[in-house]
Amino acid sequence: MEQNFFKIDSKVSIAAEKALECIAPQFKITDEITEYNQQKVLSAFIKNNVSESMFGESTGYGYGDRGREVIDRVFADIVGAEDALVRHNFTCGTHTLAVALYGMLRPGDIMLCVTGTPYDTIHSVIGINGKGDGSLADYGIIYKQVDLKDDKPDLEAIKEAVTKEKIKLVYIQRSRGYSLRPSLSCEEIGEIAKIVKENSDADIMVDNCYGEFTQKIEPTQVGADIIAGSLIKNAGGGLARTGGYVAGRADLVEKISYRLTTPGLGREVGATLGMSRELFMGIFFAPHTVGEAIKAAYFTAGLFEQFGFETTPTSKEPRFDIVQSVLLRNEENLIAFCQGMQSGAPIDAFVTPEPWDMPGYDNKVIMAAGAFIGGASIELSADAPLREPYAAWMQGGLNFHSAKMGIMLAAQKMAERGLI
Ligand SMILES: *Cc1c(COP(=O)(O)O)cnc(C)c1O
Repeated sequence: MEQNFFKIDSKVSIAAEKALECIAPQFKITDEITEYNQQKVLSAFIKNNVSESMFGESTGYGYGDRGREVIDRVFADIVGAEDALVRHNFTCGTHTLAVALYGMLRPGDIMLCVTGTPYDTIHSVIGINGKGDGSLADYGIIYKQVDLKDDKPDLEAIKEAVTKEKIKLVYIQRSRGYSLRPSLSCEEIGEIAKIVKENSDADIMVDNCYGEFTQKIEPTQVGADIIAGSLIKNAGGGLARTGGYVAGRADLVEKISYRLTTPGLGREVGATLGMSRELFMGIFFAPHTVGEAIKAAYFTAGLFEQFGFETTPTSKEPRFDIVQSVLLRNEENLIAFCQGMQSGAPIDAFVTPEPWDMPGYDNKVIMAAGAFIGGASIELSADAPLREPYAAWMQGGLNFHSAKMGIMLAAQKMAERGLI
């Protein structure tokens, strides 16, 4: 006899059934993208003769590590780039983006961000707040930005900015991050790239965090010269325990390799310490894991729309990252949402998250996360600052079936407290 492992009100389970019906067409599209990307990844493995011998560990300098060399080739092929660096030595997404920027920019160069204010942790790298802690600003790199217009890249203003003065690097952030603007599709990134290339000789870099494998192409295939991202988000497939990647034009990847290690040594050093197997396996799993996370995002939108909440993107819109926001309207809803989601995590479900004063934030923040890998946001997780419009940002879910229960428990907690 079948058991009910979780106690769910009929109100929530009926809404979940309806949500699934509504998003069935989106699931079909997601499956199609996943299948395409999975074949792309498989063929890159086969083409590069990936073999078990590459999973061996190197120590010390790590000279001539075959696994390290081949994973770069595999990843470059997957994203249609000339070259790539896939390394556990990148400590997180911010570090990867920073290494790329320091590798490519020189004193006096202008970096122009064309998607408004970038992700929070990049502010200190750029030196937007102007502290003498070795930021790009400290090294004489000038930062400028073109703001979004009606939440979209302002193509006119971008054209003007790159024509007016010599820009070394145009910086694009693909994902919404933790804002409410839409994420950019590769097609939109391609439009920006076209304008930049036609009007200047600036290099184009894309912060690809959260965007990998959400579409059939990557920004490197529409004009981006460099992309970078984290391996504990999409590109590590939920298996990589740490790391990041950069990919793009070979001359730029080489420059970045000199910043990752040192001039002269570049990519030739870096012991893999037995990490290669999980990085290969993570990339192999990534298209599927991202597909599951996208389904979790659609389901979240679909379910909370059933209860009358505004969502962005909506359950009908195409996805260019794995982030979903739900506008929960008040503090009680936010707290119940995060506490309910936490109660459905495979790890630390017994913990009750509470709002706290997180360093660097103006408002209290509440978070739900119970992950196999510390802070991995490819695993089901949610963050919410306690301020208008009381939006919760959720992302991830290693597999849809477990994520679905976590999301239903978020609604269940709200139902138990009489909020829906
Ligand atoms: C997560 C993220 C980053 C930073 O990555 P961390 O791994 O948290 O350092 C940068 N940009 C975007 C858009 C992100 O989503």
